[in-house]
Amino acid sequence: MRYGIVSDIHSNLEALSAVLEVFGTVDMFLCPGDIVGYGPNPNECCSILRDLKPISVLGNHDAACVGRQSIEWFNPHAQAAILWTRERLAESHADYILGFPDIHSDERILMTHGSLRNPLDFEYIMSHWEAGESFPEMGDHPICFIGHTHIAEVYVQKADNLDADQISLYDGGKITVLPGYKYIVNCGSVGQPRDGNPLASYGIYDSDEGTIEIRRVEYDLAVTQNKMQEAGLPPALWQRLKYGM
Ligand code: ZN
Repeated sequence: MRYGIVSDIHSNLEALSAVLEVFGTVDMFLCPGDIVGYGPNPNECCSILRDLKPISVLGNHDAACVGRQSIEWFNPHAQAAILWTRERLAESHADYILGFPDIHSDERILMTHGSLRNPLDFEYIMSHWEAGESFPEMGDHPICFIGHTHIAEVYVQKADNLDADQISLYDGGKITVLPGYKYIVNCGSVGQPRDGNPLASYGIYDSDEGTIEIRRVEYDLAVTQNKMQEAGLPPALWQRLKYGM
């Protein structure tokens, strides 16, 4: 199976469209959360994603935009974008998002938005010791796909070893899944990268080949910035896109 991974789209239609244009053939899409929040096109992004019939989990912005989580934990800019999205998100898309679980686990795929330890607390995994809290929760799964930090990177732990290695994939790259190791994989953010690289980030997991590849693609971010400006969204949210921060 060849899986396409699109995380943290954040209502960025230009980034999502650019990513989907270059994907190639994919058997199934995975979305580790945050379809909406921040960006100017929540309904368009939901429509496109729903057509892809992905396996999805709930992101913290998704939860807040559909009223499943309070906005008090968000910074003022994020709060403003959540309230803006709440007013505009179509009911059918909100219902779709409300149906997302906090963890998806089947015989092939394990996925959550933040961490496996307390999924609805939306903890960030940004270090090998934070990853170390989730590895024991993976059971027999060799891979867990996450999102949330908007940073393209992989944490690798050898079985029975508490140390984990952190592999940065800010410019893209490919890893091979080796037997006896566990992997926590963040394919980065489609719509609001924060690893210093402004290019949209996405992933391809080839389960037959045993590889995970992260790729970066250019999109017309000036169009997204203009839309956000016209929508009256906080300037900090559209200015940061240019810097990948
Ligand atoms: Zn996010």
